[in-house]
Amino acid sequence: MPYRTLTFFRFLIHIDEALAAEAQAAGCPCGGVLHRANYPRKPRGCPPAFRAEYATRLSFCCSQCRRRTTSQSVRFLGRRVWLSWVVVLGSTRPAGHGTAAAALCEALSIPWRTLARWRRWWREDFVRTSLWRVLGARFLLPVAAARLPNGLLEQLPGQEHEPLRCLLALLTPLTITAPEGR
Ligand SMILES: [Zn+2]
Repeated sequence: MPYRTLTFFRFLIHIDEALAAEAQAAGCPCGGVLHRANYPRKPRGCPPAFRAEYATRLSFCCSQCRRRTTSQSVRFLGRRVWLSWVVVLGSTRPAGHGTAAAALCEALSIPWRTLARWRRWWREDFVRTSLWRVLGARFLLPVAAARLPNGLLEQLPGQEHEPLRCLLALLTPLTITAPEGR
């Protein structure tokens, strides 16, 4: 795996740890203290080198009301079994995005039904989120629903994996509310 791709996957772990620390510092709405209560995930689309670290979803349990708080994530998009980066890059096919990660995604042989469902999610569900309304106003050029997520990736700054990383960071508010399914 290219060095930059390794760095990309490692960096996503650091972002998730930072998001988890933020959630823990905020505490439970009841005023209780949050204790680590991570749970196992099957990270589909994970490079073997990272499988152990990506097999855990960072989460907390309240010391008082026992309610679970799961922090936002750049790795897991809701309950989907495929990792977020695969959901984003897989949705750009067949156009791809020209990075090593895009090539990696091509190699995963994601079922076409899954790809069709993701593309529909961008066009029909994503555009109904309040996040999309906020993002839509922030982008220089309007992005057509039919061109999601390519239209967003193309306008995000940086080289190689940077636009993808930016988009994963922008999507984090959806990662704890995204619908179930693969
Ligand atoms: Zn609580």
